[in-house]
Amino acid sequence: MEITLKQYDTIEDLVCPFFQIKRREIAFGTLPGCDTDGNRTEFPIRQIVDVIKKTGIWGYTDDIGCIHYWHDNASFHSILEFFAHEIAHHTGTPDEDTIAEEMRADEYAKVAVTAYAFAVSLHENRV
Ligand SMILES: [Zn+2]
Repeated sequence: MEITLKQYDTIEDLVCPFFQIKRREIAFGTLPGCDTDGNRTEFPIRQIVDVIKKTGIWGYTDDIGCIHYWHDNASFHSILEFFAHEIAHHTGTPDEDTIAEEMRADEYAKVAVTAYAFAVSLHENRV
């Protein structure tokens, strides 16, 4: 599968189609989730968007291999980790369990970050 990229100018442009919400819902809407004790609760969308903004890069990959993303001053490490994670969703056999699949993609991201660090170290130390 060919992986393609689609960049969004603002995080709001990206979260609306992802969460299937209208732009005006960002200001006052809530989304269901679990708190740190595992209890179901509602989170203000504005708060979710603000947390996402602090990461500097965020997005998702769709079923046809397009990575939809937004970034703003993300570190190189975060960018590498983000794309490795998203590409992992289209590499190998995805896990049917959503959480297990996210953890599998995170493992791919760790591989990419570690391999990159080793490659840079080796490359910079050669004479
Ligand atoms: Zn993921």
